[in-house]
Amino acid sequence: MTAAMKSLTLLGATGSVGSSTLDVVARHPDRYRIVALTAHRSADALLALAARHRPRHAVLSGLAEDRALRRRFMEEAGAELLFGTAALEQVASEPGCDAVMAAIVGAAGLGATIAAARAGKQVLLANKEALVMAGPFFMRAVAEAGARLLPIDSEHNAVFQCLPGGANPGAASVRRIVLTASGGPFRAAPLERLAEVTPDQACAHPNWVMGRKISVDSATMMNKGLEVIEARWLFDAAPSSIEVLIHPQSIVHSLVEYIDGSMIAQLSNPDMRVPIAHALAHPERIESGAAALDLAAIARLSFERPDAQRFPCLGLAYAALGEGGTAPAVLNAANETAVEAFLAGRLRYTAIHDVIRHTLERVPAARADTLEVVLEADARARRAAAEFAATLQERAA
Ligand code: NAD
Ligand code: MG
Repeated sequence: MTAAMKSLTLLGATGSVGSSTLDVVARHPDRYRIVALTAHRSADALLALAARHRPRHAVLSGLAEDRALRRRFMEEAGAELLFGTAALEQVASEPGCDAVMAAIVGAAGLGATIAAARAGKQVLLANKEALVMAGPFFMRAVAEAGARLLPIDSEHNAVFQCLPGGANPGAASVRRIVLTASGGPFRAAPLERLAEVTPDQACAHPNWVMGRKISVDSATMMNKGLEVIEARWLFDAAPSSIEVLIHPQSIVHSLVEYIDGSMIAQLSNPDMRVPIAHALAHPERIESGAAALDLAAIARLSFERPDAQRFPCLGLAYAALGEGGTAPAVLNAANETAVEAFLAGRLRYTAIHDVIRHTLERVPAARADTLEVVLEADARARRAAAEFAATLQERAA
């Protein structure tokens, strides 16, 4: 039996999640058709993908109109090339697409991801920052438009798989959600060495190959903090019912504990094609290309509680979630600014936490009544974080 063809818009096609998605899609040409691919500025990489997948539209959101480039895309890939951020929202909401993979990194993905939800699309959500910034708006847009939200983040996809029928997770029968974390590259490094670690060391994740921003977030465990907030909105879960455990093997991707004492977990090799294939085919199952899990070869699965001194960013995320309103948007914006400065060699690794904490103190949380208020808090937080990061750099110089 052949399933109906699903047409897919892929936001962030040139990234790590983007290329894993295209890998899965290419394995199932009878099931998926790419209607749009987007990238920020990497024109050549996008053109190569467009030539291979033949979308109707390609978008370079970070570039201004360029006629020669537009002609090349038409001639070499048969794709109409669009420019600028407005084009992201256009391809995320256009009638010809059934599903949107939201795989842009950071707050830059918010507009297009919300546009997809408002258009009632099936939204495959990798862009966790969008949900962290604007959780209640995002979930309301999904509900009002009758959109379908499927988590791509491996932990949330795991939780989704461990919930009855993959839905209605706020159920009273659930006691806890346990998100697992690898602990990143510095889980066992001497604490006094952390001030000196380089961007490349921070990006050398032991189990996953990912974009640089999320790799740094994994090292600081802000990634898990963002994921706690993500889980709060995705699963309508009380913050106190979301727990984090370090699991260095990255085989158990998360667990759900029920009131009878049962825990259900999802296991696989750490390969993003597993959650991507799950969400693409849901409620069916398709081959993902991931290697089968050999539990006997892995032999040992271990778990430990995160050390608050080593991973102070995790506590900041819980605090921002508890504070509510615009606090998670401030947390996210400060983190993006600090990580960017760290990756550019302008901030010490250990100062990432200082910048975020300072920014949360400087930019008080307001009620997040409108999306405009959230975006304003994001902008204020970026300014405050950048100023503070610059002060730290001057002091160090
Ligand atoms: P990446 O850096 O590899 O790719 C990011 C993509 O977004 C690229 O296609 C880039 O062109 C595009 N982009 C960057 N800045 C942009 C901007 N300002 N406007 C529009 N487009 C822009 O990132 P990634 O690792 O693939 O992560 C993507 C998202 O998925 C992030 O939100 C991340 O937290 C989440 N995620 C990633 C993984 C993973 O394994 N990589 C796992 C779970 C969740
Ligand atoms: Mg994750």
